[in-house]
Amino acid sequence: MENKTFYNEVLIEHNQHPIHKEKLPDANLVLEGVNPSCGDDIILQLKVENDVIVDGAFEGSGCAISQASADMIIGQGKEEALHLAKLFLKMIQGKTTADELDELEEAGVLADIAHMPARVKCAVLGWHTMEEMLGKKE
Ligand code: ZN
Repeated sequence: MENKTFYNEVLIEHNQHPIHKEKLPDANLVLEGVNPSCGDDIILQLKVENDVIVDGAFEGSGCAISQASADMIIGQGKEEALHLAKLFLKMIQGKTTADELDELEEAGVLADIAHMPARVKCAVLGWHTMEEMLGKKE
């Protein structure tokens, strides 16, 4: 189906040409997220100044879903990023409204994961790691 093809294309594109997969030398927040059930391993690196995410990148390895999902992480303000992470987790549970889905921009294509329980941990890994990083701080 149309939608399915688009979903696959986006996953492939993010795996072959990731936008944020690199080392961020001046990151001031770094956290590793691991999903042992699939073997996904992500090291998320953020540069945060005055509650604004100035820059972000990730390194690591794992399945296509975990890598693409980490590459799609968005949000500039700390509050905004936490809000989007919450929406993403909600989407993966199949509970977002159409408006909320719009807010997630491209990451919205992963909404189908709600029907693939085995891949949920892969999809949320990067977002959950970010939530943990930003939430922990003070
Ligand atoms: Zn995985």
